[in-house]
Amino acid sequence: GGLTVKKEFAVIGLGRFGGSIVRTLAEEGLGVLAIDANEDRVNEFARIASHSVVGDTTDESVLRNIGIRNFDHVIVAIGENIQASILTTLMLKELGVSNVTVKAQNDYHEKVLRKIGADFVVHPERDMGRRIAHNIGSNNILDYLELSDEHSIVEIVASQKMNGNSIFDLDIRAHYGLNIVAIKRGNEINVSPQANDLIHKGDILIVIGADSDINRFEKKIV
Ligand code: ADP
Repeated sequence: GGLTVKKEFAVIGLGRFGGSIVRTLAEEGLGVLAIDANEDRVNEFARIASHSVVGDTTDESVLRNIGIRNFDHVIVAIGENIQASILTTLMLKELGVSNVTVKAQNDYHEKVLRKIGADFVVHPERDMGRRIAHNIGSNNILDYLELSDEHSIVEIVASQKMNGNSIFDLDIRAHYGLNIVAIKRGNEINVSPQANDLIHKGDILIVIGADSDINRFEKKIV
């Protein structure tokens, strides 16, 4: 093992989203600087974050005075004010912050953020909406993690049709281009399923692949 250097995080914007990131990082014992233009918001996080600062981050001197370039990862969680979010992100990249994660409000915002060099763009409302829709819209899919626009990892409940078949029998890799990466049965999880492992009705299969293939497979097995 090499030398472990503790990462330093900064969160700009202490609304519901940014606030939740600050709380979680702090709970995990990680150093986090909390920044907001609103003093009341900053006061709310003064005891939670390792440091807190009142400041408008669209002002470049505010970012410089904080020493923002010394942070390993900066999260821009400015909500409604898209212009402030874009300007802040642009300056963070210009100042040389290597990891900048930004919350996007909509697809246009996301497009601009990517163009100006945001390293990670998150879209929590849209993504959570999709996730919930997938979870409630299917009887067989329990959970779902989007890997790209076209690929996901899903948890599928094994149907009666699959009961007693081995992974080899189902041959979903050849038929659907999908891979079963794990099988959950009660409290047990098999993280390296073999071709001759039998599937029982009610097992939870963790499957990775293209969304279109997952849909095809789901229709077939129910
Ligand atoms: P959420 O949807 O996550 O609750 P909000 O819009 O409520 O987000 O919160 C965004 C936060 O970002 C607010 O606390 C606001 O004061 C802060 N903020 C907005 N513009 C700036 C800025 N230019 N500099 C610093 N903080 C800002």
